[in-house]
Amino acid sequence: MTNPLAYLGEQLQAWRNAGTYMRLRELESACQPVSRVDGREVINLASNNYLGLTTHPRLVEAALDAARRYGAGTGAVRTISGTMDLHLELERRIAAFKNVEACVVFQSGFAANAGTVAAILTPEDHIISDELNHASIIDGCRLSKAKIHVFKHAEPPAAEEKLAALRDAPGRKLLISDGVFSMDGDVARLPELVEIAEKYGAIMMVDDAHASGVLGSAGRGTIDHFGMHGRVQIQVGTLSKAVGVLGGYVCGSRDLIDFLYHRARPFLFSTSHPPAVAAACLAAFDVLEQEPERMRELWANTRHFQDALRAQGFSLGATATPITPIMVGEARKAFEFSRALFDQGVFAVGIGYPTVPEGKARIRAIVTATHTRDQLDRAVEILTRVARSLAILGTGR
Ligand SMILES: *Cc1c(COP(=O)(O)O)cnc(C)c1O
Repeated sequence: MTNPLAYLGEQLQAWRNAGTYMRLRELESACQPVSRVDGREVINLASNNYLGLTTHPRLVEAALDAARRYGAGTGAVRTISGTMDLHLELERRIAAFKNVEACVVFQSGFAANAGTVAAILTPEDHIISDELNHASIIDGCRLSKAKIHVFKHAEPPAAEEKLAALRDAPGRKLLISDGVFSMDGDVARLPELVEIAEKYGAIMMVDDAHASGVLGSAGRGTIDHFGMHGRVQIQVGTLSKAVGVLGGYVCGSRDLIDFLYHRARPFLFSTSHPPAVAAACLAAFDVLEQEPERMRELWANTRHFQDALRAQGFSLGATATPITPIMVGEARKAFEFSRALFDQGVFAVGIGYPTVPEGKARIRAIVTATHTRDQLDRAVEILTRVARSLAILGTGR
């Protein structure tokens, strides 16, 4: 009998031959600045744990306490019997934090984006989308069946051109962008995008997954960072990155949130967060407001690390955030670099096509607030040594 899935094995072999086959590394400790991975201690530059909250005692205690009081799971989707008081308290907390009317939490940032875009648009509508928007936005756009118009990355005039061409077209228009781009670390030109959305009557939606807890006062995101309160109708954020736990949220008007209760499919058809998750997220918002030194440390560490890398001759692209792309070029080379770094005690993943365009492969390093200067300096030293040995950097001679 022939194996009808044989083509999968053939594709995997092709990836092995191309040097782009990915083996999952095993994290054998908590996610922290020096983590135990595949049996060794490495400097962890591969997490989104910007503020070190994954191991914050207040989050851990809140999770334990909630598990004891409410159990391990919720037993239902939100719309049946899976809405606990903890879920609603978290949503009120986030809405107040973000200075909006209402908030709904999804199981993940991915579900928040995909579920929201798919829910609010129909095939008659138009989406104007940055070419580097996150996969969950792209999937939401596809699920909505609306017409998708992709504009050149971080170029608001290109978005305006698309909207101008659609001026007389029927249907609603949604202008959508990541706030911080996850693979390049650059920040969207939000004030220009908002102006354009207002000029053409488009809905403005921003995905602040990498800006939540990183940009704006106490980590309120790019809308706060740019003073755009009240002018972005749909704000998405994650609870999985700087917040240190799991989940995604949508902030906006009461009507938007009520509508999503009725139509967002991940909300309707997938079970709600365990109580421990909701409770830990609640504790995280207290920490964001009460421990501003974490954000200060994050940015000081970012400057320290990126300045040191640039001084060694590394190209860091357009980053303006703790996301640090170290440009390599070829995917095979980026993966080779990552493996060699790991052997020398630095954990930073190689990223190639299709996550980034072909020929723009890179190592992505993310600095956190809890890395020590000594750890960062050691990481720079190892990065430099390995990059020279692989001719990614010149030898300096
Ligand atoms: C990580 C990420 C998401 C998904 O968030 P999860 O909570 O991990 O599902 C969505 N958008 C962007 C821009 C991201 O970087």
